[in-house]
Order: sequence, then structure tokens, then C-alpha cells
Amino acid sequence: MENASNEDNSDLSSDNGSCKCGNCFIMPTARECVCCHELSKIKSIFDEEDDESITCITAHPGFPPACLNKYVLQIAYYQYKQQYGEAIEDSSEKYRYRAYRQLARWACEYLGKKIRVVLPACAVNCIRNSFPDNSGNYTGFHPH
Ligand SMILES: [Zn+2]
Ligand SMILES: [Zn+2]
Repeated sequence: MENASNEDNSDLSSDNGSCKCGNCFIMPTARECVCCHELSKIKSIFDEEDDESITCITAHPGFPPACLNKYVLQIAYYQYKQQYGEAIEDSSEKYRYRAYRQLARWACEYLGKKIRVVLPACAVNCIRNSFPDNSGNYTGFHPH
């Protein structure tokens, strides 16, 4: 005797092994192991594209320019700095942080000072690859 009524609760599952986009890798902390398909606000971004070939937020045409373009991240940082008055030195860590904020803002439209949105592992991994740790002495971007 099968019980099919559990299907309604599938969104509540936070199973680490439930990647549906194929781009999520195991993260150091289990908290980060969330697939973009599990986050309704993230998924709605690429669902709205009405393009079935887009099965992951990192494959969305808007993802690289919004979250991986360092100039966009720099500009986003200027807005952040104006709003909160914080001076943050340039480093790959800061670019990653801004990229996370960009993605969270994309998903939720408005954010306060702190990110409280869970980001999908596939996007976090993609951002980490774009701004790796070993370039911490990066000083190439000095607008004036
Ligand atoms: Zn995934
Ligand atoms: Zn994904």
C-alpha cells in the first residue's frame, strides 16, 4: 500500500545529495550543500527564462555578467559603500563576497546589510572558481 501524499512536502527536504542541476559539488559545510533547484527564488530566475536548456542558475545568461564580472561587482560595491560607508580593500575574497550579494539580491530583490539568503552550491562554486583565493594580492583595478 503506497502512500503518495508525501510528495507535497518535497520542498521541505534539505537532503545534501539531491542536486538536480549537475553542478553542485560537496561543500566544506553541509549548510552550503543546497542545489539551485531547491531554492524556489533562485529556481524562479531561470524558470522565468522559459528556456528548457537552462537547468542551472550558473547556466543562466544573466549569471556571468551579474555575478562574475568584476566591473559589475566593483560598481555594486560602490553602491554598497555609499549606502553603508564601509571601505573594503580589493581582494578576491571581497569580489566573492560581492558576487554572493549580487546573487542574493537577484533572487530576493532587496537585501539588508547581511546576507541571510542561502545560496546554491553550484553558484558558490562557480564564484569561487572565478575569484580564487591565491590571487589575494590582486591590485589591478584602480578607477580614478
Ligand atoms: Zn545542483
Ligand atoms: Zn545549479
